[in-house]
Amino acid sequence: MILLDGKKLSEKIKVQLLEQSRQLKNENGRSPHLAAVLVGENPASVAYVNNKIRSCRQCEIGSALIKLEDTISEKELLEEIDRLNADENTDGILVQLPLPPHINPDVIASAIHPEKDVDGFHPLNAGKLSFGLPCFEPATPKGIMLMLEHYNISLSGKHAVVIGRSNIVGRPMSIMLSAASANATVTLCHSRTSNLEEFTRQADILIAALGKPGFVKAGMIKRGTVVIDVGITRIEDPTRKNGYRLTGDVDFDNVAPLCSAITPVPGGVGPMTIIGLLSNTLRAAEVK
Ligand code: NAD
Repeated sequence: MILLDGKKLSEKIKVQLLEQSRQLKNENGRSPHLAAVLVGENPASVAYVNNKIRSCRQCEIGSALIKLEDTISEKELLEEIDRLNADENTDGILVQLPLPPHINPDVIASAIHPEKDVDGFHPLNAGKLSFGLPCFEPATPKGIMLMLEHYNISLSGKHAVVIGRSNIVGRPMSIMLSAASANATVTLCHSRTSNLEEFTRQADILIAALGKPGFVKAGMIKRGTVVIDVGITRIEDPTRKNGYRLTGDVDFDNVAPLCSAITPVPGGVGPMTIIGLLSNTLRAAEVK
């Protein structure tokens, strides 16, 4: 069984991204720049955004963290996005999800200029993705594709089963796996799928992105499957200093012995998501 080490791989890729970032600085006369918008103080969101900013620094990508109160109106947030859209020194914009319930994330995603949409959530980028046209690919599936490529996991003709159909992970993942560049045959499962196990047991590659800790059990997969665990849930754990531990969607201890390869949580998909974001930011700086 191969442990797909996203942490180690991401550090290796960051060295290449740093090189690209320096080159772009030479060409553009300034470093690539990411603006990260954080609404409210959700502890997980704060941790994710700080991690993204730290990674930008490692790659000499400039960044701005724009912290806004969770009482901000949708209109005020749209004004902030307009400002960033118009700012010549901002190459990429991300708005950390989730947003407070009174703000519609689809409205916000559609307001970000498609050429600065480094999360790839704008409908134009989503449409281009499904047509196989050049676009910003959402960071998590992009990071997963890079990981599969790095570990020489061939996809062509394989049956990939994706659990979860969100616009952030599951759906774009299914599109990228079935694209002509990957050539997998894809089954997209979701909360209304009947007999889920019937599908997961057929998977050569199983992507779990549903946000239910330990959901994928050993009895749900066949021997030799590649398992990619996207899930991250904070579970209270008084034995830890910070009071919680991160848990994936896969019952790792019992599933891992059956797999040919598997990602750990943490240290699997998470760091690769950041690579997806950084590499999209460099691409946005190139578009200029
Ligand atoms: P979401 O809640 O938007 O979507 C969950 C999907 O799972 C839905 O499409 C739903 O139909 C499906 N689902 C729910 N219960 C199911 C069930 N019992 N059987 C089959 N399908 C079921 O979540 P999301 O934003 O796609 O995130 C999913 C998980 O991935 C979360 O734990 C999230 O924290 C994590 N995540 C991790 C990264 C990373 O970088 N590792 C990035 C994004 C999201």
